[in-house]
Amino acid sequence: LLLLDLFCFGDQTVVAARKESVCQKHQEPLKLFCRDHEAPICVVCEQSQEHRYHDIVPVEEASQEYKDQFCTCMEILRKERNRILAYKDSLVKESQDLLDVFEFSEVKPHSKKKVVQR
Ligand SMILES: [Zn+2]
Ligand SMILES: [Zn+2]
Repeated sequence: LLLLDLFCFGDQTVVAARKESVCQKHQEPLKLFCRDHEAPICVVCEQSQEHRYHDIVPVEEASQEYKDQFCTCMEILRKERNRILAYKDSLVKESQDLLDVFEFSEVKPHSKKKVVQR
């Protein structure tokens, strides 16, 4: 859930950066991304006191990072899914084994009966 939240947040941020390509405050293109605020900013924002000591990167770089993060999340989710599927498989196999035993034990008294009948 945490990973999913992280992905959602990251994706929203990147989408926001792509969509609102103009800064609400300065009407400048949002070419930068403040890592401290985790928000897209413009060149004027970058110069402001607010982001003075913040970690500013180009938006492309940030979106690439989030994309990587997303890939990692997907990888983990996929692994988790495989694990669940594998678990399900083993359960099915186990129940199949049980079924085999059951069938076997069912056949046994039956054949015994036959023997008795003979
Ligand atoms: Zn701005
Ligand atoms: Zn900032």
